[in-house]
Amino acid sequence: MSIPVTLIPGDGIGPEVVNAAVEVIEAAGAKLEWERAAAGAGAVPTHGTPIPAETLESIRRNKLALKGPLATPIGEGYRSANVALRKEFDLYANVRPARSFAGVETRYSGVDLVVIRENTQGLYSGVEHYVDDERSAAETISIITRKGSQRIIEYAFNYVKRNKRRKLTLVHKANILKATSGLFLDTGRALAAKHPDVEFKEIIVDNCAMQLVKNPNQFDVIVTTNLFGDILSDLTSGLIGGLGLTAGGNIGQDAAIFEAVHGTAPDIAGKGISNPAAEMLAAAAMLKHVGKPAEADRFENAIRKALADPASRTGDLGGKANTAIFTQAVIAAL
Ligand code: NAD
Repeated sequence: MSIPVTLIPGDGIGPEVVNAAVEVIEAAGAKLEWERAAAGAGAVPTHGTPIPAETLESIRRNKLALKGPLATPIGEGYRSANVALRKEFDLYANVRPARSFAGVETRYSGVDLVVIRENTQGLYSGVEHYVDDERSAAETISIITRKGSQRIIEYAFNYVKRNKRRKLTLVHKANILKATSGLFLDTGRALAAKHPDVEFKEIIVDNCAMQLVKNPNQFDVIVTTNLFGDILSDLTSGLIGGLGLTAGGNIGQDAAIFEAVHGTAPDIAGKGISNPAAEMLAAAAMLKHVGKPAEADRFENAIRKALADPASRTGDLGGKANTAIFTQAVIAAL
């Protein structure tokens, strides 16, 4: 039986990388039924909103989506459609693995870590305003709840066990943000006592950033709050070759949305030269999530094989191939 998936091409390079991922999934023979839906800046002229009601209904029905990046106006305009989707479906866990690719030259080899970011609270709660009409000051409120901390940290402990990983590192800033980050840390410590079979470490975020750059292989699975996770997961994607190679899953109790970590890349949109590997890796993670681990591994291995060949690498990785050449290389590797 084929599994229905809401497919959101998105903005900028979104349609190119999403179409490439679909082409490869279909070549692999995975039984998925795509339901295309609009979102992002491209949906505003046609639907009057970056998140049309039909798109929300489609995700609600299918409980599963693969999406391309969505453009968000900087400093003004509508709120991020990405953040709104995560909130709408309460996709509280953002899971971003970073594993080195053979042949892709980076500072370190053998990196294999996962950042699990709380996806709905903290500084992304959306409680933000200017204090006066002159915009002389602005305030934001970071909301952290015990319940929200418990479910993400519990998710992380279970992720470690389910994926046979070694250790969980909780990243915080409780020395300064004593209440918000302190609550997250306290919750982690309490849960660590309930999971004695998982090695548990804690580290302050600034030190974590330095340690990740100095010796990333000391980390395994990291769990942290929203903003820290956003920044650290871009850092870890840089460790393995950049945004063109990193995918993430946004996972909740009732729905999951998979996507590349990168944005719409307006500087290269429409040129057919974007790297679709991250969107393909997102599709592979989605296959794993829906209980098709063998197909997911086959798919990921084909992506890895294509990346190992300099002739099929795109410009962001120093290669000369375009999106179509890379896509054909993955299909050949299947
Ligand atoms: P970006 O990720 O779009 O681009 C950063 C740099 O990386 C650019 O030089 C770009 O060309 C390059 N790059 C990114 N993806 C690539 C790929 N697949 N292949 C080759 N090169 C790639 O980040 P930005 O410029 O900060 O953001 C642009 C827009 O994307 C903004 O509107 C932002 O809000 C949005 N955005 C969306 C998401 C999402 O939907 N998940 C994530 C991040 C940014």
